[in-house]
This record gives sequence, structure tokens and C-alpha cells, in this order.
Amino acid sequence: MLSSILSDYVKRHRYTRLQPLAALIDMDGTLYDSMGNHAEAWCRMCEENGLSVTREEFFLYEGMTGAGTIDILMQRCRGRHATEEECISLYRRKTEIFKELPPVRPMPGAKDLTDLMKTVGMRRVLVTGSGQNSLLNRLDEDFPGVFTDGMRVTSRDVTRGKPHPEPYIRGMQIAGVTPSQAIAVENAPLGVKSAATAGAFTVGVVTGPVARTELEAAGAAVVYDSMTECAEEFPTLLYEMLTLNL
Ligand code: CA
Repeated sequence: MLSSILSDYVKRHRYTRLQPLAALIDMDGTLYDSMGNHAEAWCRMCEENGLSVTREEFFLYEGMTGAGTIDILMQRCRGRHATEEECISLYRRKTEIFKELPPVRPMPGAKDLTDLMKTVGMRRVLVTGSGQNSLLNRLDEDFPGVFTDGMRVTSRDVTRGKPHPEPYIRGMQIAGVTPSQAIAVENAPLGVKSAATAGAFTVGVVTGPVARTELEAAGAAVVYDSMTECAEEFPTLLYEMLTLNL
């Protein structure tokens, strides 16, 4: 089953093989169980500013940069694009509220997965739409040795955020790999779309209210129902990739 998914994938992309040399890993909702807090912070900031929103919509915007999300909200609620000043001030306020919420925890299974990637010698690059230092600064503590210096793409490093492929293309450049040598791990449809469009073999993980079918529709090659399951199945995935007979 997995081997046929892999061989179909390779043929569809006109790759000659898959070489799992690098892992490109999303942060919010993948490494950290942070999406509930993000949605809460967005809702409170919007309420303060008279922007009418639903909590659910923020799970669909997940992966976008703050400025991208604010622009969508302003277009819908005010009928115009957000100004640069609004993007800065509203995102700053959202970040302040996020920091006041109870601390988020690493996603169960995330450390097992990233330790495994490290053990087998895959290069690891963080690829996040976030620019929030409150989480970025915790990575070394929660995932020691997983992301070494410079091995990150954040909102500050790209001009076009997810779902545009730029963040994952940058991730591949940093890792020094081609698309057929990269595995991306993502929990949100826009992030999956970004990674899949960049040509990475994209693993979707269900960690919140977004259904597996939405991750598949966005381009996930395989989908796991939790990060724990992803960590358990990852050795099999690597083995099948390395032994794939086309
Ligand atoms: Ca995410």
C-alpha cells in the first residue's frame, strides 16, 4: 500500500527516486500544540479592533504570515487591503495576547520524531510562517540539537508566506537538497500546499480540527492521525523510500 503510494508519487513527479536526506518541519500545530492559543489570541485582538471573525477561520489561515492573515481580515471586514502600519501594530497586539495565555506544550510525539530524524542523519530545517520569538526561542530547549544555527525559515526570511512554495523552497536551499530529497511535515492545508507545490514529499499530520481529507486535498502524500503515529510510522516510511523498486 505504502510502496504503491510512493511509486505513484515518484512517477507523477517524474523523479527517478526518493532520497530522504532532509526533513523540513513546520512549527505551530506540528512541533507545538499552539494552535488553540493562536486562534484565541487572534480572536481577542480582532474583538478589540472591531473585526468580526470566527475562531474556526484561524485554523484555515494557519501557516500564513501574520501580515497575510491581517490583510484577509481587513479585506473582508473593511473592504480594503491592510496598511503596513496595521500589519505591524495588529500583529504586535496579537503577539502580546498570545504571550499572556497559558504556555503551549510540545506536541506529543514531536520530540520522538525529530530525535529519530537526527539519529538517522537527516538534515533538519524548521519552516514556519511564525515570527513569534516566544516559541522560536524555546526550540533549543524543547528539541535540543534538532535545529542547529541557521537551519530555520521564519516569516522574516520570505517575501511570500505559505501557501506560496517560497518558504519550502528556501528550506530546501538551506538544507542543500532537491525536492526529491526532502520530506516535509505539516498539519495545516496551506502549509501542505506550500510544501507540496515546492515538490517535497509532504507528510500531513492531523493535530487539530482540520480533517485528513483537507490535508489530502491540499497535496499531502501520506497523512497520519497524530504526531505520535507519525513518529511510529516514520522508520517504515524511510525504509520504503530507500528500498523503492520502480
Ligand atoms: Ca502549522
